[in-house]
Amino acid sequence: MLFSELATYFSRLEKETSRNSLVEILAELFEHALPEEIASCTYLLQGRLAPFFQPIEIGMGVNYVADAIALAYQTDRAEVLRRFDRLGDMGEVAKEMGEESGRAAPPEASPGIVEVFETLKRIAGMAGPGSIEQKVGAFTKLLSSLDPLSANYLCRIPLGRLRLGVGDPTILDAFSFAQVGDKSLRKRLERAYNETSDLGLIGDTLWQHGIEGVDCLSIRVGNPIRPALAERLPSAEDILKKLGRCAVEMKYDGFRCQVHKDGEDVRIFSRNLEDMTGMFPEIAQATVRQIAADTAIFEGEALAYNPASDEFLPFQQTTRRRRKHKIDEAAQELPLRLFAFDLLYMNGENVTSVPYEERHDRLARLIQRDETIDVSATRIVEDPEALMEVFNLAIQEGLEGILAKRLDSPYQAGSRNFNWVKLKRAQSGELQDTVDCVIIGYIYGRGKRSSFGVGALLVAVYDPDRDLFTSITKIGTGLTDEEWREVRERCEPYVSEDKPARVESILKPSVWVEPAVVIEVLADEITRSPIHTAGMDGEKQGYALRFPRLVSFRSDDRRPEDCTTVREIVEMYGQQGFRPAK
Ligand code: AMP
Repeated sequence: MLFSELATYFSRLEKETSRNSLVEILAELFEHALPEEIASCTYLLQGRLAPFFQPIEIGMGVNYVADAIALAYQTDRAEVLRRFDRLGDMGEVAKEMGEESGRAAPPEASPGIVEVFETLKRIAGMAGPGSIEQKVGAFTKLLSSLDPLSANYLCRIPLGRLRLGVGDPTILDAFSFAQVGDKSLRKRLERAYNETSDLGLIGDTLWQHGIEGVDCLSIRVGNPIRPALAERLPSAEDILKKLGRCAVEMKYDGFRCQVHKDGEDVRIFSRNLEDMTGMFPEIAQATVRQIAADTAIFEGEALAYNPASDEFLPFQQTTRRRRKHKIDEAAQELPLRLFAFDLLYMNGENVTSVPYEERHDRLARLIQRDETIDVSATRIVEDPEALMEVFNLAIQEGLEGILAKRLDSPYQAGSRNFNWVKLKRAQSGELQDTVDCVIIGYIYGRGKRSSFGVGALLVAVYDPDRDLFTSITKIGTGLTDEEWREVRERCEPYVSEDKPARVESILKPSVWVEPAVVIEVLADEITRSPIHTAGMDGEKQGYALRFPRLVSFRSDDRRPEDCTTVREIVEMYGQQGFRPAK
């Protein structure tokens, strides 16, 4: 398939907002591609050259893309930047210039998808002295071989502005439609996706080896596994009723780390599957030192620890080092401690189907504990009183609460279910748990706050069935000036003139923001609402958060698709009014 044909599909996708039509267009695209083109197509649809967890970047910002456009269309950078100011998008600039230069139809020797993909990868790999000129040169050559529409999409890729509005669930559905004409393969594809996190690999395997080939894909050291997540129940009684005799662990409020060890090579992935190894040098070193296995995958919660006061510090302190350049210094000043809580893989054996109790035992035996990697404290309880004893102990130690775990449960990648149940501390008059929301717009205010350009935030939760972000509340009060400034800084790159493709909202903010910035929100209550679209269904009203306030910025460990889901909101609504007994 030519890249120009792919660009035509991109432009159809970009104009479409109905989810079913998106799936149809994608399925048509996959049907037309050759099997060996499926992986490149899939990564390009995500605006990437590799799965998300491989930090491959093209390494060309706005100015270098502008240089390439100037060279390709024989003008200068200043002219390109002038047009960029007017059009607001480098892709549109390339398209306009391409049209003016008379390249309206695809030129004869138009490159294929794989050729473009491989060239972009080669550009990404260029490093060292003189590499900028090389990158610009290779990109210019590519651009010169493309028609205006293709040039538009090509220029958006290095700038991370492809934004076609297709999320991973939509691509999985399209794979199934392209192969069998309906959604029936979705569950099997999703299992492979949860265990490998690599849509390109799954597409490639499906086309080359069929669905049976996909069934053979399984967890592997180096590919992050989509994390298992916890459900909520309102009381210790409910937990024991649901799980029976169960294990109770401390709930540490830190940064979830999935550690992959292959001999001396260690990778650490965040909850949103990003490679964060560089941020945690002391944990990577300790893994080599403390883990008595050649290969292993385990999970734990990393917390900043202040040895002087013997105290754990909250999440924000833990992640502060992400924005600090001198990570090694931070590691000295504020060392992290990792509480390992689950084992997924060990010496070549996938242990996710081994019951929790045995996995935790094996984990405890695997780790030669010291001050960096420890094992989560766990106790088996049979009645609510014993569970509350552990809960109260956790609160006394300044932790968030507890996680109860079903003793015979497997590790189920990517699912939130009652294998794990969380019980958190809550003040009376507050929801028992925070809600992770994504910012979808600003509403300009009057008065003091408008000097920062923001008056209120419109935020949404995620509806995975429809791959949509649906509005749930406006947050207007309770943010400090500093927090407003941070909101603005974080949202700036995602401001959009039109409503972003995957957003559903009746309220129209002053400015839309592409779903990217995730915040943790605490509210007093969930109410039914005619103006918010979360959970709205035909005649049925939606759900809204009452008296919401910002607790923390969570983009460091949550993708927008990791936000609280509509289903969870409906469950939390049903559980309101119950509090864990003191
Ligand atoms: P939440 O993020 O509120 O849904 O709670 C689940 C999160 O708690 C997990 O994603 C982990 O990051 C964290 N966590 C803290 N302590 C534990 C533990 N002992 N077992 C499992 N998860 C834990």
